[in-house]
Amino acid sequence: MLGMNYDSNQLTAKIKAWSEEIGFNLCGITDTNLSKYQTNFKASILDKNYNELTYLKNNLDKRLDPKKLMSGTKSIIVCALNYYQKPISPHISIYAQGDDYHKIVKNKLKELAQKIETHIGNFNYRCFCDTAPVLEKALAEKAGIGWIGKNSLLITKQGSFMFLGEIFTDLELQVDKPAKNHCGKCTTCLKTCPTKAIIKPNKINIQKCLAYLTTEPKSQNHLKIDLHEKFYGCDECQLACPWNRFAKLNTIFTPNQNLAKPYKELIAWDEDEFRKNTKGTALRYKNIKHP
Ligand code: SF4
Ligand code: SF4
Repeated sequence: MLGMNYDSNQLTAKIKAWSEEIGFNLCGITDTNLSKYQTNFKASILDKNYNELTYLKNNLDKRLDPKKLMSGTKSIIVCALNYYQKPISPHISIYAQGDDYHKIVKNKLKELAQKIETHIGNFNYRCFCDTAPVLEKALAEKAGIGWIGKNSLLITKQGSFMFLGEIFTDLELQVDKPAKNHCGKCTTCLKTCPTKAIIKPNKINIQKCLAYLTTEPKSQNHLKIDLHEKFYGCDECQLACPWNRFAKLNTIFTPNQNLAKPYKELIAWDEDEFRKNTKGTALRYKNIKHP
């Protein structure tokens, strides 16, 4: 970034306008200070229920300090992309019913970074979408995109069916105010969860959470718990959230009709059928054969 000349206010405004042109629904900017989230995050991963999630403990320092993930990071651009669509199956999370989001979000982030480059010249950056130790929901909350709801997911005023992506950069941009929490007195997600996995606001027992049990290969508890016919993921606490009344149908992700099968058929798939039918979806990304 040395020698670069730009007006931070103007560039920040342009980044937000470009993010919209590229198709992101929300864009906010924050700094690297995650101290407010450290205690809670550390307490969660030390909980014995998280023992199987070793990847959360690995690189903990990088997760809690973005400067350790990319040295010289000064600002983080957080973007959100709506993926809401009418579910084609109650057995598979909506996010896994359409095209794999990782590449789509990352390509859009790169497009945004290239627009910045065209405007100010080369600068240091790295793009992330769910594949590196990044505390995504905390950064999104700090960047004003939405708040971490009682179901522990990021809720925005356009709903919670949003993929998040981040650009870490050494640019000095204008940061946004953190989002306020708008859950209020609502407890719908706690009451709706079929396994009562939300123990208290923003505290999930993952060993009861169907989103975890049906997607994590190391999870053994799926053998003991009624999966409520969930094949991959669970959206019940999101579908019930009143903020999702504002969710609009997305225009990017096409649902894969191969997944619109009765539960009995889905669980009867052998490895080959699983591979064939899940090709190109985020469900395939985890590459898990369901029990
Ligand atoms: S994802 Fe499903 S099981 Fe997990 S907390 Fe939400 S409703 Fe409960
Ligand atoms: S259902 Fe209610 S309490 Fe739960 S995340 Fe949505 S607004 Fe918050």
